[in-house]
Amino acid sequence: MEEKLILDGQKVANDVKEGLKPRIAALKEKGIIPSLATILVGDDPSSATYVKMKGNACERLGILSQRIQLPKETTTEELLHTIQELNNDPKVHGILLQHPVPSHIDERAAFEAIALEKDVDGVTSWGYGQTALGFGLYPSCTPAAIIRIMDYYHISAEGKHAVVIGRSPILGKPVSALLLNRNATVTTCHSRTTNLEEMIKQADIIVAAVGKPEFIKGEWLKDGAVVLDAGYNPGNVGDVEYASCYEKSSAITPVPGGVGPVTISMLLKHTVDAAERV
Ligand code: NAP
Repeated sequence: MEEKLILDGQKVANDVKEGLKPRIAALKEKGIIPSLATILVGDDPSSATYVKMKGNACERLGILSQRIQLPKETTTEELLHTIQELNNDPKVHGILLQHPVPSHIDERAAFEAIALEKDVDGVTSWGYGQTALGFGLYPSCTPAAIIRIMDYYHISAEGKHAVVIGRSPILGKPVSALLLNRNATVTTCHSRTTNLEEMIKQADIIVAAVGKPEFIKGEWLKDGAVVLDAGYNPGNVGDVEYASCYEKSSAITPVPGGVGPVTISMLLKHTVDAAERV
């Protein structure tokens, strides 16, 4: 039996960040400091924590972090205006709108307002479409992180059956597209899937993006499956039941320390990519 792998996201993230250091230094020599603007609307504590983590990660690497905090009463028009200003600011290379935004705001309209060349989180429909067609500049960061982890550990998707559980615009759909572009046979499951366990049983690669703690059980897995858990739920647990899935898998991402840190490093990478393209 092959050795079981714990896919160490911190290690992958460090590798990504090490690769960025000389690129950031080269940009600085040309007088360019990569810069990410983050927009947080309202005072949701977990969103505030995520934005803070992303801003701190930027600063640790020498990327400028411009943190914009808007009150929860902000209207769609006001948010669009802020985004437009950032689009027009040549010193800003990437824009991240932390979601979810308060429910009175038209979130889709806000995402669409982000200039494609600054859409480092892959939230615009243009960005998504180009990613699906295989030439997108910046896929959403979590799907990009999942592919990066696979690449780091030389896990090929070619010819494999990948089952993605979840079809959100920032996760399930784009990761399905990325895996398809890597020549996997992809099944995307969602809340109306009637035979989920049967689907998971057939999977060589499982991507969990459900948003339900410990939802996927080890007994549903085929022996030797690769498990990539994008879930991040209160109590620091993922969308798979780790202990039972660990037993059945050949490789698995832990939570925390799996997909999460790589997601942040992909955001940093996309910001540096964007700064280099100016
Ligand atoms: P989401 O928008 O809530 O989407 C959840 C998806 O799961 C939906 O497509 C939903 O189906 C599907 N689903 C719900 N119940 C199901 C069930 N019983 N059976 C099968 N599918 C079901 O969530 P998301 O934003 O994609 O996030 C998913 C998870 O990833 C969350 O735990 C989130 O915290 C985590 N996440 C992590 C990172 C990171 O950096 N690690 C980044 C983003 C998100 P329908 O479409 O039919 O409703």
